[in-house]
Amino acid sequence: KFMSSCICGCVIYLLTGKMAMQGAIGTGSILLMYAAVTMVVEALSQIAQIITDLRNNNEHLVKFFKYIDMPEAGGGITDDCELIFEELEVRDVSFCYPESNTYVLENINLKLHAGDKLAIAGENGSGKTTLVKLVCGLYKPSEGKILLNGKDITEIPFEKYIACIATVFQDFSLFPFSLGENVAASRDYDIARVEDALVKAGLEEKLLQLKNGIRQPVFSDFDENGTDLSGGEQQKVAIARAIYKDAGLMVLDEPSAALDPYAEYEIYKNFSEITESKTLISISHRLSSCRMCDRILVLDRGKVVQEGTHEELVKDIGGKYYELWSAQAQYYYNTSHCSLST
Ligand code: ADP
Repeated sequence: KFMSSCICGCVIYLLTGKMAMQGAIGTGSILLMYAAVTMVVEALSQIAQIITDLRNNNEHLVKFFKYIDMPEAGGGITDDCELIFEELEVRDVSFCYPESNTYVLENINLKLHAGDKLAIAGENGSGKTTLVKLVCGLYKPSEGKILLNGKDITEIPFEKYIACIATVFQDFSLFPFSLGENVAASRDYDIARVEDALVKAGLEEKLLQLKNGIRQPVFSDFDENGTDLSGGEQQKVAIARAIYKDAGLMVLDEPSAALDPYAEYEIYKNFSEITESKTLISISHRLSSCRMCDRILVLDRGKVVQEGTHEELVKDIGGKYYELWSAQAQYYYNTSHCSLST
């Protein structure tokens, strides 16, 4: 835009300058012509900008409409009865993300019975989150099937399927509504159950500080008396939301990622109570929490490389779990060593 104005300016000045020297036009006309041409150039460059924006936004619109037009998952079952979680099976599942030809999960097989507690361990990028998102029905396997109580989950209406799963993902969102509404994900809620969930998630002290208790608005977007919660407190509210949902299967993806060690301890102190009667799939960056599960699945580059209890896996020197465990123990040793020496 700047370049085109400069070029136009030069051309106009040269032309009008030449005409003025020949006595064809006066100084006033030169300025008038310059101003007029500059305005035309600006208008043209604005039109060019609008056309570019339209073209760019069009690409986003195509994606948006493609998403809106996607068929709802499931749809086979029409009865209204609640699904009872009995058994979940991941059968020969492989997955690659759309527009990619690299498999991020290959031939995953896994069975979970009601009450089982499974931890998934592995390096970053090994496919843990992708696996739990497949289990939650958020993605469809590229190959293989996921079955709930023997039925392919793509044949179960999505709403009905997710009603039996409570999740805490890393990318959860809280909304500028009351704390109670955030926990219940609904306008109507059971006050005692919301408070119980918040206490179990380690927010008892915070709750006591709030002037309006669970009616306190979260964030100050719509209410100047709203409470701004820290990252760790927000994560605890997300955990409380999963507790409140009281679903058969609980999926926790790095639930303590934003928590400091003390807050994490508080959560895990209540862990067995929170997950007592639930089936659990848990991903945690701190392997110490895997010990609370009765089975650990170790992923490496999209494949299951080990499966067993913490005690079994940690003995397998040379195995992936041992490698991860030792790396983490080393980190903790170094951290505590540093803090002791400073
Ligand atoms: P983890 O949870 O073990 O860190 P992820 O399941 O998040 O691993 O990622 C597994 C692989 O899939 C990584 O290589 C990651 O880059 C890729 N991946 C994750 N999400 C997407 C996505 N939305 N689109 C394309 N690739 C993705």
